[in-house]
Amino acid sequence: MSHQADQDLSILTTNGDASRATDQDARDLNITGARGVADVLKTTLGPKGMDKLIVNSFGHVILSNDGHTILDEMQIVSPAGNMVAEVARIQEEEAGDGTTSAVVFSGELLAEAQDLLDMGIHPSTIAEGYYLANSWACEELMDVSQPVDTDDDELLEHVARTSMTGKSAERYVDELTPLIVDAVRSVAEETDDGISVDLSRVEIEVQSGQAITDSTLLEGVVASKEPVHEDMPLTVEDAKVMLLYKELEVDTADVEMASITDPTQRLEYIDTEESQLAHSVEQIAATGADVVFFMRGVDNAAADMLLKEGILGVNRIKKSDLENMGQVLEGSPVPIWDLETVTADDLGRGSVVRDDQAEAFYVTAPGATRVTLLVRGSIKQVADEMERSITDALHAVAQTLSDGRVLPGGGATEIELARRIRTKASGVEGREQLAVEAFADALEVVPRLLAENAGCDPIDALVSLRAAHAEGRTSAALDVLTNDVVDAFDAGIVESLHAKETGYVSATEVSALILNIDDVMSAGDLTTQAEVDEEDLGGPEFDYDTPDMGGLIDADDWLDQ
Ligand code: ADP
Ligand code: MG
Repeated sequence: MSHQADQDLSILTTNGDASRATDQDARDLNITGARGVADVLKTTLGPKGMDKLIVNSFGHVILSNDGHTILDEMQIVSPAGNMVAEVARIQEEEAGDGTTSAVVFSGELLAEAQDLLDMGIHPSTIAEGYYLANSWACEELMDVSQPVDTDDDELLEHVARTSMTGKSAERYVDELTPLIVDAVRSVAEETDDGISVDLSRVEIEVQSGQAITDSTLLEGVVASKEPVHEDMPLTVEDAKVMLLYKELEVDTADVEMASITDPTQRLEYIDTEESQLAHSVEQIAATGADVVFFMRGVDNAAADMLLKEGILGVNRIKKSDLENMGQVLEGSPVPIWDLETVTADDLGRGSVVRDDQAEAFYVTAPGATRVTLLVRGSIKQVADEMERSITDALHAVAQTLSDGRVLPGGGATEIELARRIRTKASGVEGREQLAVEAFADALEVVPRLLAENAGCDPIDALVSLRAAHAEGRTSAALDVLTNDVVDAFDAGIVESLHAKETGYVSATEVSALILNIDDVMSAGDLTTQAEVDEEDLGGPEFDYDTPDMGGLIDADDWLDQ
């Protein structure tokens, strides 16, 4: 840090531990921090990418190949590094896939910027060049993409497959892709602006036991609960179902009860409460209900009464789950609070089926617009990671349906865009031209890493891809499963348009933001002083140090065991 910066700082803060970096120092600091974060993800990109094993600050062990999850669990100290992690978060939120690509591209834009800065080019010139190149990239994306027939399930399965290749779900890709496409179709709706997909209506339930081939798409939801009485009918096909916010129990801890001290009076009080319960059960039975899902508790006395009526009762269902059941059942019943006014019209229709092995009820109705992907046969340790890669694939398929277009994957899009941007760059005046070219070079980080992670020579791969594109093969890609240059569309390596576009935009913005920072001021670690005080008093010593990336190791070896 420069002497001047130190002096400036003393005017701004009184904390002796505070620090400040300005101008080139600030930029170096930020670029190094941001690239450091991006570098972590480099080896995870693509089908042959490695996984990471992270021990988070709570001591939980997380195994992942998902860019957003990895960065989210890491303790990143660099502020600029956190800005890059934010790119992953936005990508996850906006597109649901393509997080790793967006982050490594951000890192690469900054690496290229570093070279330009060293050549004496002003940071704002670089940022402008990047914005210009990005606008071209987004325009050309449209041209590189191809329209899809939204009824073409095979193509949608390819999109799911491309997204899942290299993840722990890959082993099951043949079983899962048709289910993923079905799931998206179940919640897709034709609107005036095309197809809109509400993925919040797709639930993923990973269950161990059984075989992966037993995985299914449930037109409905899962309630992992026990019946209130074990002798109740556990499976009711074509059931009349009541959804109730109310409880069926005598509240022995209530205020009124507590105020009664005489034992006989207490028993009388319980009797009246129980007769009220009996009345409630009569009201339920009078509607003709076969099954009741309760949000609150059902006590033993009430459970016995329900059993006598031949009704299946299941209690302590989360409010949101109860409402979801309402969306599944025919007649879309709204859960009710009050039994006084209840009628048969408040019931929904559907099937309630018990799965003993899974210890769950499946609540389904034909044509339900809320579905659950039941993924069976996974081992517990990878259940979360399975869920993440299935979620990515769901998003990729949903995006493809709503975009109505797909992009060639396997690096084809990046090579083609880089080529087109380089051609246009010659028309850019001044030093900005170099930044535009740098953007094109940075794009090629994706094919380079795909090759590198697959054990191919990245230079050879780039050379053959560039040559193929120069000949006009705009969708020539590197298939890392065969290490051949193929046509991405023919090989079924296809990706979501929206995901790529979002990635380019956020990577451009974050690198421009970081380049435009010329001052990093830190208030200092206020806990350091506390630590000193604590020691002086002979008190316990705390380790305030943020755990670093020592907790992060490549995990493929671990998984193979
Ligand atoms: P992200 O988080 O960016 O989605 P992934 O690890 O999922 O990162 O890798 C995605 C990249 O892998 C995309 O560029 C995609 O085109 C590429 N890809 C998927 N399947 C293949 C394949 N068979 N050959 C080459 N590249 C592939
Ligand atoms: Mg992906």
